[in-house]
Amino acid sequence: MSQGSVGVLSIQEIRVRLRDKVAVITGSARGIGQATALKFAREGAKVTVCDLTPELIEETVKMIRAAGGEALGAIVDVRDMSSIRKMVDQTLSTFGRIDVLVNNAGIVKDAQLKNMTEEQFDLVIDINLKGVYNCTRAVVDIMLQQQSGVILSTSSVVALYGNFGQTNYAATKGAVISMTKTWAKELGRKGIRANVVCPGFIATTILNSIPERVLHAIEEKVPMGRLGKPEEIADAFAFLASDEASYINGAVLEVGGGVTV
Ligand code: NAP
Repeated sequence: MSQGSVGVLSIQEIRVRLRDKVAVITGSARGIGQATALKFAREGAKVTVCDLTPELIEETVKMIRAAGGEALGAIVDVRDMSSIRKMVDQTLSTFGRIDVLVNNAGIVKDAQLKNMTEEQFDLVIDINLKGVYNCTRAVVDIMLQQQSGVILSTSSVVALYGNFGQTNYAATKGAVISMTKTWAKELGRKGIRANVVCPGFIATTILNSIPERVLHAIEEKVPMGRLGKPEEIADAFAFLASDEASYINGAVLEVGGGVTV
């Protein structure tokens, strides 16, 4: 029996849940997306790190490679179909397939309804909603050909209960749930699962615009009494991407420390 083995399965075989799967993760040069890229690589996946800023993409790719993982960096604006198609071609020529798409790129441009501009509304729709559609549209034919695939998208708890100052953001996050349920119905028989994660309030730069006193009030409202960590969302994505979630389709998984309870 080899070192570290349990019965006929080695410890490594038990623990590595995404062995040889190829994952494309948008907005993965920082925050939740970066934590997800690192987690997926640790679980054995080959990862395409997609984001806007070349230096941050390169840094994340280096972190994965330094830990012994495989990664490819791609400059992708989820609003721009040509950058998405280029990334898909690069992923296929480097890794040969696409097993998992994580739609994670997202922004906030908050304002109360009475102050919201058309530019603020449209920008959030273009990235958080159309961007999710664009990336999923670009990989669906590949997954259909493979007769397998997992589409994971990032919604938010605010899709479930609304949020002050987030008409645009809440609308997009609600739409991500609706699109995912539609894909679960359209694609389930073709071997493709589609699921959503709704993070609660997670400590990343996206919360920078929230005043300290409001953040404190949010922490008070969360039954667990704290903000979440990006790694705690990454763990949920890794589970949903893995074969351990083989019968989970069309699900909306809240990871928010109980904030909606
Ligand atoms: P983050 O730290 O700001 O990371 C978002 C990443 O997406 C950044 O690297 C950003 O690049 C990238 N991005 C923005 N626009 C893009 C575009 N057009 N194309 C490609 N990439 C783009 O935010 P996060 O907190 O990790 O958020 C990740 C996802 O979780 C988002 O969908 C967010 O709505 C969702 N979420 C977050 C929370 C939370 O509390 N943190 C809660 C619920 C849901 P730049 O920084 O260079 O612009």
